Amino acid sequence: MQFLADYLEQVKAARLYRQTVVYKPVSAAHVQLNGQTCLLLASNNYLGLTHDPAVRQAAVDAIRLYGTGAGGARLTTGTFPLYEQLEQELAAFKGAEAALVFNSGYMANTGIISALAGPADVIFSDALNHASLIDGCRLARARVVIYRHADMEHLAYLLQMTACAGKRLIITDGVFSMDGDIAPLGSIVQIAARYKALIVVDDAHATGVLGPGGRGTAAYCGVADKVHVQIGTLSKALGAEGGFVTGSGDLIDYLKNKARSFIFSTALAPATIAAALAALRELSARPELVAKLTDNVLHARTLLQAAKIPVPAGITPIIPVIVGDSGIAVRITSELQQQGLIITAIRPPTVPAGTSRLRLTVTAAHTREELTAAVHAIRRTLTLCGKRRE
Ligand SMILES: *Cc1c(COP(=O)(O)O)cnc(C)c1O
Repeated sequence: MQFLADYLEQVKAARLYRQTVVYKPVSAAHVQLNGQTCLLLASNNYLGLTHDPAVRQAAVDAIRLYGTGAGGARLTTGTFPLYEQLEQELAAFKGAEAALVFNSGYMANTGIISALAGPADVIFSDALNHASLIDGCRLARARVVIYRHADMEHLAYLLQMTACAGKRLIITDGVFSMDGDIAPLGSIVQIAARYKALIVVDDAHATGVLGPGGRGTAAYCGVADKVHVQIGTLSKALGAEGGFVTGSGDLIDYLKNKARSFIFSTALAPATIAAALAALRELSARPELVAKLTDNVLHARTLLQAAKIPVPAGITPIIPVIVGDSGIAVRITSELQQQGLIITAIRPPTVPAGTSRLRLTVTAAHTREELTAAVHAIRRTLTLCGKRRE
């Protein structure tokens, strides 16, 4: 078992050691850590719906009605009434024929890609796609061709140059999870049409965030009816847990019969499905939720720019501050933690070597004052650590 200790030594030496920290949630935007209440600028709870009274109540009611666990997989005894309701409303929300819920976004991606592609097919995958998409490609045992991040000329070139006897799939994050930029779906749709390629978009960070009513990246880009497979999560802006896919009735039927992560795992618990359903209804009933998020994002991005903190231009709640070195990224985030601010340091292999960063996420649960104070603290700390000049 020496290899275990050897590996741990190695990641520690490279400043890439990871460990879990217990944060006690006290609200959608605050946690307690070592007795101190801290502001969370690191959560994907974009609309603060984890702590919404109606959402919490729906989860409690579901436990009273249906118990704590599903007790079976979806195709055996795990499909209780709330599931059908949630899938119908997700399909309506996305303007699709049908929807299917998976136990997590990770399981949606691995299950869907490995069901759609096989050894005769070629997958064209953005270089910065999420790990769960990469793992889905590996499970599919298809040939994977990686195009430079969001580089449409490169994608078109590779499609042209790559012989393919089977299907072509183009797979991309909608909003990239560590950079916060948006996939150029308008161009992808045009290029895909030339090669009859299927398009799969993972909207983990766009569901409830981007596009009219938070309908996602394809809606934002005006191509909702041209993206064949739209994946989302219930675990981020919707404040619950799980992943989902929307598309044609045939697609959903096919996945029910073929996606192994759907078939061979116990259905999500009633409380989780009830929470997701209630959250989806809150999202539709209260457009001011997404408006508040958008307003906070603009406020934070404007302040960061004014403070000469190097962040790329953008409009999403994911704001990377790239510092390069892993050790410095960790040092900055622990300094900020001392000041009551939780921001995650993102290091390789999550991001490419030399691009370690602070990953800030803004939510609708933050107040403007909190965001203003946070930007001041980040500015001070970056200056102290030599990552920003006055
Ligand atoms: C978080 C995330 C997932 C995984 O979703 P979970 O519901 O957390 O398993 C998939 N894709 C992207 C782009 C993500 O950011």
